[in-house]
Amino acid sequence: MNLINCPECNHEILDRIGTICPSCGHNVTYFEGDKKRKLYGKFFAMSIFFPFISFITIVFTSGNLIALSIASILYLFLATLSCPLRFKDLFFTGYEKLVFWVIWGVSNSFIAAITYNSFSKLL
Ligand SMILES: [Zn+2]
Repeated sequence: MNLINCPECNHEILDRIGTICPSCGHNVTYFEGDKKRKLYGKFFAMSIFFPFISFITIVFTSGNLIALSIASILYLFLATLSCPLRFKDLFFTGYEKLVFWVIWGVSNSFIAAITYNSFSKLL
């Protein structure tokens, strides 16, 4: 546990989520405190936007074999970047971890299926 300064009144408090500042009543949230929590916002955005980018790219390049191959490489790269395995220190609860693994797994298998179908149409 580390101490941070309360963003409201500068009083020293614990960086743990849910800590209530004894001096002003401010409640510590996810995005305050250590670097990990700032990374959380980045990871959250990745989990949403990367599959979306991959999906759009695969759909738009599905008519051309070379373009689709490049899109597939981009998709694999983005899927690796946003993999929850890289962020395993970030999760506070097992439930949170599960939610992100499910989001990652479902969205990426969906894109993998589309990629496979596009390739089999072209080959
Ligand atoms: Zn305070």
